[in-house]
Amino acid sequence: RIAVALFTSDLRVHDQPVLRAALRAADEVVPLFVLDDGVRRTGFTAPNRRAFLADCLTDLDAALRERGGRLVIRTGEVVDEVARLVAETGAVAVHVAGGVSGYAQAREERLRKALAGQRCELAVHDAVVTVVPPGAEVPSGAGRDHFAVFTPYHRRWEAAEPRTVLAAPRVVRVPEWVAGDPPPARDAVADTSPGLVRGGEKAARKRLSAWLADGISAYEDRHDDLPGDATSRLSPFLHFGALSPVETVHRARQKGDAGAEAFVRQLAWRDFHHQVLAARPAAAWDDYRDRHDRWRTNTKEIEAWKAGLTGYPVVDAAMRQLAHEGWMHNRGRLLVASFLTKTLYVDWRVGARHFLSLLVDGDLANNQLNWQWAAGTGTDTRPNRVLNPLAQAKRFDPHGDYVRRWVPELAALQGSAVHQPWRLEGADRAALDYPAPIVDLAEARTRFDSARG
Ligand code: FAD
Repeated sequence: RIAVALFTSDLRVHDQPVLRAALRAADEVVPLFVLDDGVRRTGFTAPNRRAFLADCLTDLDAALRERGGRLVIRTGEVVDEVARLVAETGAVAVHVAGGVSGYAQAREERLRKALAGQRCELAVHDAVVTVVPPGAEVPSGAGRDHFAVFTPYHRRWEAAEPRTVLAAPRVVRVPEWVAGDPPPARDAVADTSPGLVRGGEKAARKRLSAWLADGISAYEDRHDDLPGDATSRLSPFLHFGALSPVETVHRARQKGDAGAEAFVRQLAWRDFHHQVLAARPAAAWDDYRDRHDRWRTNTKEIEAWKAGLTGYPVVDAAMRQLAHEGWMHNRGRLLVASFLTKTLYVDWRVGARHFLSLLVDGDLANNQLNWQWAAGTGTDTRPNRVLNPLAQAKRFDPHGDYVRRWVPELAALQGSAVHQPWRLEGADRAALDYPAPIVDLAEARTRFDSARG
């Protein structure tokens, strides 16, 4: 008996319900990943994420080989490729994780139809994309299908029964004669960010262990420290499922200190956004709240924001970190998003699209709903709060080290003076190859207040 284990957003062997169920149900398993033409056509696969995915697939193949198996990679349309493989192998079942996104649900429906004609069972398992599945903790009978406010959601989330973590399989037997493509090469992907992190489950587990040993305990105090870079940087691994969020929470909770608690709370935020998007798929591109703002479209300002040339050093530093690494510190994301949507008064979709074109952790739920949160069209309970970039810089980069790291034109300016290059006089100012602020903060604030009435 042969079964197919279809990998999707769960590129790991630890805590992997799909692989485990397939191994239990069959003598031989084909671990399959389809490089899906359909997904590639959507444009959602930015170069940084394609390169990271290549690493994940290479690593997954290696992990399966260590267990006597390998990853079978096919290229094409996912349902066609699965059906073709079932016909080739006579597989009796296809195991897959059940996703809540529209894409995953449509895939499941189409797979079910295709396999029914082949007398092959479709077995759908827990996706483990989130710690608590979307919708699971919503009180029934209240006429609600999701939580719109984080605090009550978090209370329920904390009380949820933790799922057990599955061990990695020891042996994976794959029929030898099944052919597949080699994993894609990271280096073959053009236009990636120069400082892009390497992907894969091994790298994820190493990072998690290092984080738990030396990092997490200081998280509560240091998570907003821009130059300190003291967050876990686990987001891309979680996005691709190279790391199970359930295992991450279990291991963090074992630390039992305030840092671990604060870190686990951030994973609840991740689940929170997923459950909003699962209930309101349109919120990926439509305002979550029914607000019709008259956004400004000033191409010059938008381009300056994207290029990290707004004249506000902390904004520019964060935007340059994004371009260089395909990742940005959360505090940076918050302040550049506020700057674009509230100070420049530009539609959040412009920013969200730009982020998705670069972020290695770029994720429809977390990106779009955080953008809406920052823009005041989403779930933020204080939608009219505006982050002042200067105040943010002084608070979260008090000595200016973050700015000097990312904006070399300002590297010679000492201490917090780096946050206000416009204050320099005469020749010193003229010597700087750095733009004047593209907007006056006080005028921008007045504009915002009158637009929001
Ligand atoms: P840590 O601080 O170590 O947090 C641990 C984990 O918790 C993260 O890996 C992430 O999975 C989760 N997390 C933390 N903060 C948030 C949050 N506010 N919302 C949801 N999950 C959170 N995160 C993404 O994963 N993908 C995105 O596309 C994304 N886009 C964002 C866009 C904007 C405008 C903003 C303000 C935030 C965005 N975030 C996104 C959330 C957050 O910035 C990143 O998850 C975080 O910076 C990743 O770094 P880390 O792994 O070191 O996080």
